[in-house]
Parts: sequence; structure tokens; C-alpha cells
Amino acid sequence: MSQSPQERLQALRAQVDSINLQILDLLTQRARTVQEIDKVHQDMGHEFYDPQREAQMLNALEMANKGPFSNETIKALFREIFRASLAMTEQAGRAKILVHRRTPEQRTIITMPDGVTKIGDGSFQLIAGPCAVESHEQMEEAAAALAQRGVKIIRGMAYKPRTSPYEFQGLGEPGLKIARQVADKYGMAVTSEIMDASQIPMFMDYADIFWVGARNMQNSFLLRALGKVDKPIILKRGLAATLEEFLYAAEYIVSSGNPNVILIERGIRTFEKWTRNTLDIGGVTVLKLESHLPVIVDISHSAGRRDIAKPLARVAKASGADGLMVEVHPNPPVAMSDAKQQLSIPEFHALMDEISDVEMA
Ligand code: PEP
Ligand code: MN
Repeated sequence: MSQSPQERLQALRAQVDSINLQILDLLTQRARTVQEIDKVHQDMGHEFYDPQREAQMLNALEMANKGPFSNETIKALFREIFRASLAMTEQAGRAKILVHRRTPEQRTIITMPDGVTKIGDGSFQLIAGPCAVESHEQMEEAAAALAQRGVKIIRGMAYKPRTSPYEFQGLGEPGLKIARQVADKYGMAVTSEIMDASQIPMFMDYADIFWVGARNMQNSFLLRALGKVDKPIILKRGLAATLEEFLYAAEYIVSSGNPNVILIERGIRTFEKWTRNTLDIGGVTVLKLESHLPVIVDISHSAGRRDIAKPLARVAKASGADGLMVEVHPNPPVAMSDAKQQLSIPEFHALMDEISDVEMA
């Protein structure tokens, strides 16, 4: 007895259902095999993604294709499978990254040498001071004002990576000495930018926190060397670094043995001209979600202008960041660097008043 069209339709649909399950089974088998391949690649120390291999597979599929799907359709379908496999192995790789947050509670808390000041413990810390150390008097005046407002970490660069080689390059070691003396007087920790791994032994005598500037964020040799240092490291985001690149830079330090890394968002380069950089406040919240490391917002380099310091500081505090970096100079108009963005002492006091009522996220 011949089948009715209704019965025939039902039978064919059952066949499709069964083929779907077979395809699913094959996809699962394929994914497991890809995971095995990924393991072998890791043992061999390779990158997993191999574009040549992808081209070979597509070629072989095109040769084997007998229709009714066009070669283009087959290739598009398989490319989707390749993409899913790559995403799967990348996700597994990310789970192994040390700076990645594993649980919502996980946080890195960094304690200063005074044993009391902490970054990343839920408090809002300030890292303030002049862009560069220029003289003892300048650091002394700045530090006295910072101390009045309870600032515990003073900044001041002794080595300046300037855009032009003809601009002020910093006082060098004598600058670090000044910063150390002034900080000791006021019971503060010192941070200053380190330019090269060869400076590590010298910096050990003066700095409590080593800092890597934006221009050095991807200097992996320096980052690895700082992984061996027993002091916290400030890592500033590169001028045009993605958040992923930023976290990988931190990973260099942490995977080399130093877990105490503080991330600083200092604005990124965009097409905007009315601010020196663009403060990526969304990036700050993403970093806090993705990583357990503390995140500080540098409102000075993000803006390049002092007249928007207050709103940026309010936004930073409300964003869930662990603190603020801000440049403060006793006489900004004559500063040797970043004159347009450094706050005068009265402006610094006004900023502190302004943020006192802002609730942290
Ligand atoms: C600075 O903090 O003074 C500085 C030069 O910062 P960045 O490396 O972020 O440009
Ligand atoms: Mn500066």
C-alpha cells in the first residue's frame, strides 16, 4: 500500500530530525577533537589559530562538495563552525589568565609600606603630586597640601619620556632622592615612573611603587623584569591599547611572579581634540568586572586640562574605581611639563571638597 502525502511528509521529517541529531553528534565529536588539538598546540607552545589550515580545510570541502548546496554556502557554513571552535578554545584560554576575575568577590588588595594604606580594599585612594619632580621646594609645597587632605601616595617623575628630545627630561636620580625625602617627612609612599629594567636596583632605594608609563605598557621585557620585583607596580594603559592588550600587559607582570599590579586608565587617543585623550570610563567598569586588580583613574592625562577635573573626579569615584591619580603643582603655569593640566593647590583642595560627598559604586 502506497503512503499518503501526509505519511510521506511525516517520514521525511523524522529523517531530518534524525540527521540533525547525527550532525549534532558530529559537531560534538569535532569540538572534542579541536580541544585535543588545542592541548597538543599548548604542549608545543604554539598559537592555536592557523589561517593556512583553515584555507586547506575549505579547499578540501569545496572539492568534495557534490551539491545541492553551492560551494559558497558550504564554505559559509563551515566558516561558522571554525569560528565557534576558535571562540571555544579562546574562552578556555582566557579562563587560565591570572589577572582574570574568577568570582565576584575576588580582589587584589595592595598594602603600602605603612601597613595601613590599602588600594583595592573598597577605599578610594589618591595618588597625587606634580607631573615631574622639579625641586625640593616644589615637592615640599605639594606634599604639605596633600598631607592636609590625608593623601598617602605621592607621585613625581624623575625620568620623563617626552615627545620631543629637546624638552625637559627629568632630574634623574636626584629627583627620586627629593621625592623620597619629602615623602618620608609626611609619612607617604612614593611612586615614580621606571623607564628601563636596568633602573630597578636604583629605584629600589627610592620608590615604594614602581610605575610603568603609557608609552612602555607593551615593553614586555620591562614588564617581565618587574614581575621579579617585590614592590607593587602601577601599569598605565597604553595610548591606544585595547582593554585586552592592557590586561595582557598586566599578565606579563603577574605571571612573572608579582601579583601586586594597579591598573591606571589614563585616557586613550581618539579623534577628539578638545581633550588631550578620551577618558574611557566604560573601560574602567569593564576592567573591574573582568579583572580582580585595582583600577585607578588618572583624570589629568585623560583630560589634558584642569577645568574639567572636578566632574571627571566625581565620575571616577562613582564608577567603581579604586582611586584617583591627579597632578598637583604649587605653581602650574611655570611647571616644566603638563602645565595645562596640573592643579594648583587651591584647585586641589576644591577638588577634594567636590568629591567628598560622592558615593563609591
Ligand atoms: C604622567 O603620569 O605624568 C604620564 C606621563 O603619564 P602617561 O604615561 O599616562 O602619559
Ligand atoms: Mn604628566
